[in-house]
Amino acid sequence: MPRNTASGHDFPASTAINTANQAIVVGGGFGGIAAALRLRARGYAVRLIDRCTRLGGRAQVYERDGFRYDAGPTVLTAPHLFEELFALFDKQLTDYVKLVAPDPWYAFRFPDGTTLKYGPTEAATEAEIARLSPDDVDGYRRLGEASRAIYEVAFTKLAHKPFHNPLFMLQQVPALLRLRSYDSVWKMVSRYLKDDRLRRAFSIQPLLLGGNPFDTTSIYSMINHLEREFGVWFAMGGTGALVDALHHLMQEVGIVVETDTTVERISVTNGRATGVVRADGTTETADVVVANTDPIRLYRDLLPTGSAGLIARLRNRSARLSMGLYVLYFGARRQWPEVAHHTVWFGNRHRELLADIFHRGVLAEDFSLYLHRPTATDASFAPEGCDSFYVLCPVPNLRAGVDWSVAGPRLRDRIVAALDATLLPGLRDTICAEFAKTPEDFETDYLSEAGAGFSISPYFTQSAWFRYHNRGEGVRGLYLVGAGTHPGAGVPGVISSAKVIESMVPDPAPVT
Ligand SMILES: Cc1cc2nc3c(=O)[nH]c(=O)nc-3n(C[C@H](O)[C@H](O)[C@H](O)COP(=O)(O)OP(=O)(O)OC[C@H]3O[C@@H](n4cnc5c(N)ncnc54)[C@H](O)[C@@H]3O)c2cc1C
Repeated sequence: MPRNTASGHDFPASTAINTANQAIVVGGGFGGIAAALRLRARGYAVRLIDRCTRLGGRAQVYERDGFRYDAGPTVLTAPHLFEELFALFDKQLTDYVKLVAPDPWYAFRFPDGTTLKYGPTEAATEAEIARLSPDDVDGYRRLGEASRAIYEVAFTKLAHKPFHNPLFMLQQVPALLRLRSYDSVWKMVSRYLKDDRLRRAFSIQPLLLGGNPFDTTSIYSMINHLEREFGVWFAMGGTGALVDALHHLMQEVGIVVETDTTVERISVTNGRATGVVRADGTTETADVVVANTDPIRLYRDLLPTGSAGLIARLRNRSARLSMGLYVLYFGARRQWPEVAHHTVWFGNRHRELLADIFHRGVLAEDFSLYLHRPTATDASFAPEGCDSFYVLCPVPNLRAGVDWSVAGPRLRDRIVAALDATLLPGLRDTICAEFAKTPEDFETDYLSEAGAGFSISPYFTQSAWFRYHNRGEGVRGLYLVGAGTHPGAGVPGVISSAKVIESMVPDPAPVT
């Protein structure tokens, strides 16, 4: 039996799975994949079931008309979280996929036409800040220190700890108050930076995780430090190549993967999860069930009526969901070599635009955008001489009642016109392939409540103990990973959620 030196556990070889200790993971996003690997390393026989054709959840890959598009996450940080998963089985990430650092990490384009490049070195970023607002260089350094202080507590000490115990939460309150986590990211950043453009750029992180920077707890400004400490990375071949690497690893260690399969119900007997029922009516039994699904739907639709605990039912009632996303994937028969791999494009309005999206449920005429141009780093995404892109536009989720069959094509035209007039001159005449995803597709494809892009928003009142707990509420043997649980959305967050449950799942019964 191979020894798993990284975790100190033995795990059975794929040919000798102990079927007495069966774990089922529902959902193959990064959280579900990480959970499957961690449970496998603990000695469970693991089956992962996902309704999409490819693993990865929101990290799908589309290959169309000669162009490749990563559907979702593109900015990777904290690669050690992936390395840990390979190390569980004495393997190395670098043997499976190559990570490279784009230069710059991101470019920002402001409505006045000015730009800012961020990363990859502190010196380069500070030179850029000095160019826009010399008085803010010192504030930027102090912001870095402040986000490091938050990171030391929130990421190093708490991101992988279970938060279902109210006493544990209470013990953290003094530290959270000291760090002023009741302030918003915007408020915190504004304490250090004066220039409105810099405030927008360095408070952007919540938007990448489903939150309004004006409402999201300043804990999330630690991402600033996370990026500076571990860098910003891109997997050659795309995020899909990283998913493929993890899929390969799962096959090597004997995890059974079922795709194109929807779980309709989680079976519960005497208050304990005992397996799953697929949409075709077939069943599978398990000692441990891990849900990487939308938590609202888990408690409302997947569990037998009356089995969800009170706290989960209350959370379901009050949950504030993240915004939706309109994503246009497109290819063009020319290239824009001056356009960075990642660009954030700001429209004129900021606070009011975000209020339209998050508070008023209004699809405004204007927008801000994130533009992904993977061909800046990896030519394999497009035919020779062409560029592959996706442009992401935060929009209200489906609770706003927008008719996307009408609004989608109109928004597409406005976005293409805005890009043609600014970053991508000539786009309108050279765009040669395209398709879009609206919040309706997020609901259909991923069973995401109200088509939210990132599950529930990262507000203080929806973080730590106040977020969906990693331990199932009211059902023993049920665990939650993924964007809606602690610590939260984003690739580092969901991978950390698997670490949280690893410490809670009991050791498998010894093989007899
Ligand atoms: C467009 C976009 C861009 C993003 N960019 C970044 C980025 O650059 N960096 C970053 O860190 N994060 C980014 N994010 C956020 C990040 O992708 C997500 O937070 C994270 O990938 C979510 O992982 P998850 O484990 O919660 O699972 P998900 O990705 O949500 O996957 C869950 C899976 O479970 C399946 N499922 C649900 N219910 C069932 C069921 N009943 N039966 C079977 N299967 C089921 C779903 O279909 C899905 O495949 C982005 C997200 C989006 C949408």
